[in-house]
Amino acid sequence: MDKIGMVGTPCQITAATLMKDYESFIKEFPVTLKIGLFCMENFSYKYLKKLLKGKGISLKEIIQCRIEGGSAKFHLNNGDIISVPLKELKEAMRKSCQICMDYTAEQADISIGSVGSPRGWSTIIIRTKKGLELIKAAEKNKYIKTRPIDDHGLELLQSLAAKKKEKNLIEIKEREKVARQVMYWRVMPETQYLEEVTDYQFRDLKGDVIDIGACVLCGACLLSCPEEIIKIEDRKPEIRGECPPACNACYIACPRTYVPDNLISHETAKKPLGNYIKILSAKAPMFKGQDGGVVTALLSYALSEGIVDKVLVVDKDTQNPWKPIPKLTRHIEDVVKAAGTKYSACPIFKAMGGS
Ligand SMILES: Cc1cc2nc3c(=O)[nH]c(=O)nc-3n(C[C@H](O)[C@H](O)[C@H](O)COP(=O)(O)OP(=O)(O)OC[C@H]3O[C@@H](n4cnc5c(N)ncnc54)[C@H](O)[C@@H]3O)c2cc1C
Ligand code: SF4
Ligand code: SF4
Ligand code: SF4
Repeated sequence: MDKIGMVGTPCQITAATLMKDYESFIKEFPVTLKIGLFCMENFSYKYLKKLLKGKGISLKEIIQCRIEGGSAKFHLNNGDIISVPLKELKEAMRKSCQICMDYTAEQADISIGSVGSPRGWSTIIIRTKKGLELIKAAEKNKYIKTRPIDDHGLELLQSLAAKKKEKNLIEIKEREKVARQVMYWRVMPETQYLEEVTDYQFRDLKGDVIDIGACVLCGACLLSCPEEIIKIEDRKPEIRGECPPACNACYIACPRTYVPDNLISHETAKKPLGNYIKILSAKAPMFKGQDGGVVTALLSYALSEGIVDKVLVVDKDTQNPWKPIPKLTRHIEDVVKAAGTKYSACPIFKAMGGS
């Protein structure tokens, strides 16, 4: 079976980790390299479109968005740059992001973002031995160059990660006071977890996650369904058919249902950045990306060396650069084309199978 490398937001990386750890309950999950992105929030395509229309901007005109100093800077295809304060974009922020407790993709092999490094560089958090080996080899072969992160950069990164966790923990507690449990924050020991989720099926996923605005639209449920009856055509997963008895694959794969404490614990949640080996600044001289181009460089290097056979990336629609398109590819040119951040939720796992 092909080995797959992926890039994704922290919630997508959590889903990948669940699908790998509980492969025996789902189906073979060939992702062997996880590159995570830092992520404070994401936007709803539909609401952002409406909100920006009110400001005279069409999403189709936007070729790039950079979030800097509390504002989103929209680069338009006519060369104009329009700055909108993040506060004004708040109503287009996805509801599921308000209860997210991970800023830096804590279960990735390597996590990458802009915060903490100068413009044109990326900050990389190396978390696993596999991640460390990839960084060393990519640097030796001149795909990337690295340097120590400066103290001010590290402090900023830690404080933003801590702020996200503090703010969203308050939101989790508020929601739980007035509504239903925020499942993924009900962390439990693995044996209890497996017992708890035994009988849960799509109807429970719908009630516990989708209907209460906790779905991150990752597509893990769709990929894991052995009956291939889950569809994500527009904004949320739907089912077309009957679930056979004893199947709970979608409930296990979902990063917003119960999670075992070997994956997320309230202890690691107290560490703003989770566990890691080292943090560096890096850039990729041969590649152009959102920041240092390091994601593109690492995935290209992994493909060229046969470390992975295919990579899962998020490309953009040629007519509408804001619209994210998940893509599974073995070609470096596709990885290069997918560079750049699309600030919109993407059912990334849809590209790995399902319907
Ligand atoms: C929704 C979102 C929010 C982010 N928030 C922050 C933040 O708060 N602070 C911060 O420092 N960094 C944030 N980032 C990460 C940052 O924008 C860059 O992606 C990161 O610094 C890597 O830059 P690069 O030049 O190395 O990546 P590039 O070489 O440009 O590669 C970027 C990769 O990201 C993937 N990608 C693009 N859009 C998506 C998407 N919607 N979902 C999954 N994968 C995608 C593409 O497949 C591409 O391979 C965010 C990214 C996303 C997608
Ligand atoms: S839930 Fe939202 S904030 Fe959290 S990782 Fe996913 S997209 Fe980012
Ligand atoms: S068959 Fe039903 S319970 Fe099983 S994964 Fe598919 S939707 Fe979920
Ligand atoms: S319901 Fe499906 S698409 Fe939504 S978060 Fe869970 S696994 Fe992802």
